[in-house]
Amino acid sequence: MIPIPNHLQALVHAPTERGGLLSFSLRCGCGCEAFNLLESETEYTSEQKRQKTSYFRALEEACRGASSVSFTIDQDGTGHTWVRKFPLGPKTEVFLPEEPKFAEAQLLKARCAACGSETVLFDASVHGWDGRIAKANAPVSACLPFHWRKMGQKDAPPAPVRVKIENDPTYEAFCENAGAGFSEEDYSEAFTWIQIQSRSATGKWTTRLDVETA
Ligand SMILES: [Zn+2]
Repeated sequence: MIPIPNHLQALVHAPTERGGLLSFSLRCGCGCEAFNLLESETEYTSEQKRQKTSYFRALEEACRGASSVSFTIDQDGTGHTWVRKFPLGPKTEVFLPEEPKFAEAQLLKARCAACGSETVLFDASVHGWDGRIAKANAPVSACLPFHWRKMGQKDAPPAPVRVKIENDPTYEAFCENAGAGFSEEDYSEAFTWIQIQSRSATGKWTTRLDVETA
């Protein structure tokens, strides 16, 4: 069976495995099954903000009055942006400044509605294959300034949460991929995909996080 990630042990309720995926819902130690989800929001420096603003202004300018905008990527990874001014008119390439890429914090935590205890469900810098095994590929979110922001609508009530995880089927299979020197705890944290959903009052599940972590 795919192992439950070590950092989630205390919250896991009714785990099941099907088609190579582990699924479970969350239940707090106090018995409550309703949570508020909070995500990290990176605090950019003023220089980073300026770069982002000028990129998005250029994009807005290029797309003004367009009937459609499309993006393509060359085999060597170069991106292109195309604009069509009329529905049947020619596609014209527009040239934009390079999109600024900053390391961003990527964390999500659950706060129990009854007792208020909090658990980080996912931190890209330490959880998942890249965070745990291939550390060079992982974002350094723990080092970046961020604040917490409630997900969903401001007045949405706390809701049930479910988690799905993809990982190697056995510790032996994991060791073949990861090499020597990793523990069973590392294996439990080295999942290659994670999805976190919450259920609205109408019963609809909304995806709050969906990340390939390898
Ligand atoms: Zn609780």
